[in-house]
Amino acid sequence: MFFRVPTLVQLVFNRRVWKGVDKNTVYLTFDDGPDPETTPWVLSLLKKESVKATFFCIGKNIEENPMIFKQIIAQGHAIGNHTYRHEKGSNTKTEDYLKSIKKTDRLYPAGLFRPPYGRVNLKQVDAILSLGKKVIMWTWNSQDYKKEIAPDTIVKNAQKIKGRDILLFHNSAKSKLNMQESLPGVIEIVKQKELNFSIL
Ligand SMILES: [Zn+2]
Repeated sequence: MFFRVPTLVQLVFNRRVWKGVDKNTVYLTFDDGPDPETTPWVLSLLKKESVKATFFCIGKNIEENPMIFKQIIAQGHAIGNHTYRHEKGSNTKTEDYLKSIKKTDRLYPAGLFRPPYGRVNLKQVDAILSLGKKVIMWTWNSQDYKKEIAPDTIVKNAQKIKGRDILLFHNSAKSKLNMQESLPGVIEIVKQKELNFSIL
């Protein structure tokens, strides 16, 4: 599994956003929150490091954790839609997939969308674009959700991060250990490279 998404994949799926605009900036993103186990921890680290990030939130989790969700916004981070129940596009009828996105929009109308598992078909991409949303992917995947990957490996792979990269982490029980043990190191490496952090 690649930490970096191959350029060919980015070219083939060119209606999705793979990279940010500024060559001196990287874009930190967190999927699957708000989550009581991990999001408050991330928020306090980002505050300490003066880093802004984009949180792709699951509608159901927004409903269950309204105070944490408000805190993300209050700290100046950006919000993206990540469906209502983390549906996999390839297993879901487009009509139902759109309902899930719109249901999440009613909780917070975000202009950014990230498909869970990165799995979304061409018809679904059309429909999401026609809602006026951008479909945001990533270029550098921490793979924090994988048990077989050690935090050290994630930090080592951060040496490959370049300007314009969109970095993918998660706010979930499954990725908690890897995320918490690698994120401080990854932020440090990005700062050593003299790259800035920004929201999407
Ligand atoms: Zn997700």
